[in-house]
Amino acid sequence: MLTMDDFVNEDDPILRQVAVEVPLPASNEDKQLLASLMEYVQNSQKPDIAALYGLRTGIGLAAPQVNVSKRMIAVHLKEKDQLYSYALFNPKLVSHSVEKAYLTSGEGCLSVNRPVSGYVPRYARITVAGTDLEGKPVQLRLKGIAAICFQHEIDHLNGIMFYDHINPEDPYAIPENSIAVER
Ligand code: ZN
Repeated sequence: MLTMDDFVNEDDPILRQVAVEVPLPASNEDKQLLASLMEYVQNSQKPDIAALYGLRTGIGLAAPQVNVSKRMIAVHLKEKDQLYSYALFNPKLVSHSVEKAYLTSGEGCLSVNRPVSGYVPRYARITVAGTDLEGKPVQLRLKGIAAICFQHEIDHLNGIMFYDHINPEDPYAIPENSIAVER
């Protein structure tokens, strides 16, 4: 099982690389890694297990964060009683709204052990396509926190950190044409 010891540091160059596509059908090794990303995120939300192993709580994780530069992400979050739980190979942003959205609390990242303040502009609505652990194609239409989380994780596959999007002159400038999302 993955713990914080498996995470690379924020300044590790792997977080700035464009991760490679996972050849499909996925190998057992790739499936195991993707399953372990999901297991980490789920464990991190269980207070007893998180405390026992010192896991920082997160809602999403991408393979480069645990030192594997391959296109895999896991997202596990509840929003308004709906569960979004997806482990995907080669997730892709198929389309997005013109309208933007931002989390009023800003974003955090399991790879960043310091608070970073500012609004992160994201697309308000997105369609994501990918392949799940069983090899089935998945297409998702997302909004709200789920849309923001998927964009954050897919960014990791392209070497982008959430704070790259923050306006350096005015971190709390409201992004143009945007809606506020509360967490
Ligand atoms: Zn992150």
